[in-house]
Amino acid sequence: MRFLSTRGGVAPATLSEAVLRGLADDGGLYVPERVPQVEVETAADDLAGAAVATLAPYFEGDALAPALSDIVREAFDISCVLSPLPDADGPSALLELFHGPSAAFKDFGARFLASCMARLARPGDPVRTILVATSGDTGGAVAAAFHGRPGFRVVVLYPDGLISARQEHQLTAWGGNVHAFALAGRFDDCQAHVKRALGDAALVRAHALGSANSISLGRLLPQVAYYVWAARGFRAGHGASPGFLVPTGNLGNALACVLARAMGAPIGPIVLCLNANRVLLQFLEQGEYLPQPSIATIANAMDVGAPSNLERLSTLFPDSAALRRGLEARSYDDDAIRAAIVAAHARYGVVACPHTATALAELMRRRDAGDARPWIAVATAHPAKFDTVVEPLLGQAIDVPAALRTTLERPSQRHVLEADYGAFVRALRELDPLP
Ligand SMILES: *Cc1c(COP(=O)(O)O)cnc(C)c1O
Repeated sequence: MRFLSTRGGVAPATLSEAVLRGLADDGGLYVPERVPQVEVETAADDLAGAAVATLAPYFEGDALAPALSDIVREAFDISCVLSPLPDADGPSALLELFHGPSAAFKDFGARFLASCMARLARPGDPVRTILVATSGDTGGAVAAAFHGRPGFRVVVLYPDGLISARQEHQLTAWGGNVHAFALAGRFDDCQAHVKRALGDAALVRAHALGSANSISLGRLLPQVAYYVWAARGFRAGHGASPGFLVPTGNLGNALACVLARAMGAPIGPIVLCLNANRVLLQFLEQGEYLPQPSIATIANAMDVGAPSNLERLSTLFPDSAALRRGLEARSYDDDAIRAAIVAAHARYGVVACPHTATALAELMRRRDAGDARPWIAVATAHPAKFDTVVEPLLGQAIDVPAALRTTLERPSQRHVLEADYGAFVRALRELDPLP
């Protein structure tokens, strides 16, 4: 399989090249040259088996192909739970993707990317510095995935004061080869610095800079696997193809769901569940893409005003009328998210994070409107990461999962950076040389 840039300005790349580059040299995102079909019926029942069957066609002919099952074993060493909901109005389930080290679905993509990159490193290569801008969860997942890996260093930029205390702790408690900086600015500033640095050829050479942000193909592809696994498991139990309700920001996770359906997984309608950032809703309803500055919400990992994966969606599925028949969007503001956290707890006994609450809000809205079809709501993060939002609403303490507790118990150190790009470049230069 070869991979093309969404902007069509570069030669096709192999999987390995696309994974290492992150962004194509023309500024586009890599997409597969065609959408392969997955043998859903013959894929193994377990998540790793489904992942190998789903990903094999993308790895075909690449140097990494012989390592696919090892990569999957390493990256999918996280449980993925399809938990039925006590829903009197129709069959429904929660797909819990938050059992990894950073307690959010991004662990799957980050660990898969790290496993691929580690195998592509050659003896004598300089230490690669992976740059990440994060609005909360990406940085923690990437830090966890690369922490302690020889040959790699991670530099995380996050907006000072705009992420939850526990999210910040998950970025700043690693030490070793992970460096996190609180930028005196917004997420957009963090992202602008990272983009500018990755576009500066001299700086890229000097520090062997690489990227691990959500547009990297190595993060997108593994996410397709859990949709194939969940849809197949659900249909085996209920005899019907589930629709998916996916909390969405930059459209990485939901695009994986659309790809899984296009590959032949038994998936019905897909609903993008948004917070107050409504750009994707406008795109689907009016067919026009109008990026906006992001709006800060309590579901902060979805505060995206210019969802970059939309470019992938439009390239892979150019017939927008056909696409819109199976894809909808709904937006929930902070008040509606808070109300859904309370209502989902009362109705289903689920303690949801603010992101997951958008999917549950949509499930409850549909049930109340008489929709009885099977739905899977996607749970993208563990509620304990957002304790300051969820605990006061439910009036109860949330148990912290073991992996998160381990991180939260480590000492952390804050490093604040001025907002200007020069300060960021100086900080890069001042990092200790690694052996
Ligand atoms: C990143 C994230 C999202 C949004 O995912 P996208 O792939 O950016 O659409 C939703 N929920 C949580 C908890 C996240 O960390």
